Amino acid sequence: MTAPLPNFDRKPLPTGFLDEVRAVVGDRLGTGEAIRLQHGSSETHFDPVLPDAVAFVRSTEEVAALVRLCVAAEVPIIAFGAGTSLEGNVTPVKGGLTIDLSEMNAILEVNQEDFDCTVQAGVRREQLNEHLRDQGLFFPIDPGANATIGGMASTRASGTNAVRYGTMREAILSLRVVTPDGKVIRTARRARKSAAGYDLTRLMIGAEGTLGIITEITLRLHGIPEAISSAVCSFETLKGAVDTVVQSIQIGVPVARIEILDDAQVRACNAYSKLDYPEKTTLLFEFHGSERYVEEQVETVREIAGYNGGGEFLWSNLPEERNRLWKARHEAYYAAVNQRPGAVGWTTDVCVPISRLAECIVETKEDLATSSVPSTILGHVGDGNFHVIFAIDPKRPEEMIEVEALNDRIVARALAMDGTCTGEHGIGLGKQQFLVDELGDAVEMMRLIKRAIDPKDLFNPGKIFQL
Ligand SMILES: Cc1cc2nc3c(=O)[nH]c(=O)nc-3n(C[C@H](O)[C@H](O)[C@H](O)COP(=O)(O)OP(=O)(O)OC[C@H]3O[C@@H](n4cnc5c(N)ncnc54)[C@H](O)[C@@H]3O)c2cc1C
Repeated sequence: MTAPLPNFDRKPLPTGFLDEVRAVVGDRLGTGEAIRLQHGSSETHFDPVLPDAVAFVRSTEEVAALVRLCVAAEVPIIAFGAGTSLEGNVTPVKGGLTIDLSEMNAILEVNQEDFDCTVQAGVRREQLNEHLRDQGLFFPIDPGANATIGGMASTRASGTNAVRYGTMREAILSLRVVTPDGKVIRTARRARKSAAGYDLTRLMIGAEGTLGIITEITLRLHGIPEAISSAVCSFETLKGAVDTVVQSIQIGVPVARIEILDDAQVRACNAYSKLDYPEKTTLLFEFHGSERYVEEQVETVREIAGYNGGGEFLWSNLPEERNRLWKARHEAYYAAVNQRPGAVGWTTDVCVPISRLAECIVETKEDLATSSVPSTILGHVGDGNFHVIFAIDPKRPEEMIEVEALNDRIVARALAMDGTCTGEHGIGLGKQQFLVDELGDAVEMMRLIKRAIDPKDLFNPGKIFQL
């Protein structure tokens, strides 16, 4: 059993609708069960729901034409990037047309002197970085999964590098968006800053496809640092590891990544990625800068770690060593889920002010010890963001219920510390009540905005909140 969904009305497609869609995208329209299932599932613990059809688009004009068709026929429209979101964000709960943007994967321009680029929404982050490498530039947002830039914009994604480089909110300069009235707008120019009217760029970032479909994104880029070092250090206690993170951030060490893996996560990674790290709470670091500056940062953090009970501080500036480390980190979710064959994964995503992080993680770990469901903790702790990954036996429905209760407590704890229920995965289907708990009447203002922009509630309906 995966998590069941509430009931949503589902209307059949109007007669002739698919012929009209075919007139726009030709044979790039999928109606077979396999393709619909692939677009109705994603990396979530929720039951799959199939869209009526999937259209693979190649241009902004095609997206605009499909939007006009869907709005005229009152057919729900769901944007789909790579389907790696975790909260049922792409689940077409009312059926309708899924618009798959993965074939809109052109890098339109790179402005080396301005440190920016413009890409189509279906470009994958790894593809972008491969393209940029020869120009000495890189795009830092790294959610682990090889997601699309459009999907990352729409979930306000971040990941391992956010502690130094920010999230998609900071990375995006401008968007091209097809709005529910079928118009194509550009939300800003390429200027680094602007005070021109309402900030529509930020409104669309994290909107999960509920306010329009992003077709192009202009992104800030960064120069590839002269030196990059990675380091690993294990700790006797969870608190010692978290205190190391907090103290490093508080004294202003500009670490590029600091990730925590608790003992259970290290055990899972060792088994899955064939590693042999001590099975203790472990911090993974990355430092960027000039050779000298990186060495200084390593030295400072090594001292802080030693003071907090850290073991040997293993560091290296060899790319092979670094790639091995981060490959294991990127596989951590699958390592955690696969520790139990056939398990369904469920990951939590709270984020708290850094001064409350130690308390929040330590209390969460104590709470997890009361549960029979295997779980691990890992996270981008430099931002105060951490995940608990549960490996749930789908044949034991009582485990889903137990995890729901644990998740409720994890979120309640984070909110009590003035944190958020989601640092990066978004609300989707899974966190709608938590959004109300977190923001109260502000959610009513979000509903007003949604009603004004998408009065028929056709864009990814049922997500973030119910109208
Ligand atoms: C192993 C693993 C690790 C992960 N780690 C992280 C992490 O560290 N940090 C993090 O932030 N996330 C993480 N995620 C979650 C996921 O990768 C992000 O949510 C990612 O941003 C989703 O991108 P996508 O292209 O897969 O989007 P999808 O899943 O296809 O879509 C996500 C949402 O965006 C909407 N959407 C997609 N494209 C568009 C568009 N062009 N216009 C408008 N709306 C659109 C969809 O309708 C949906 O609501 C992880 C996922 C996995 C599986």
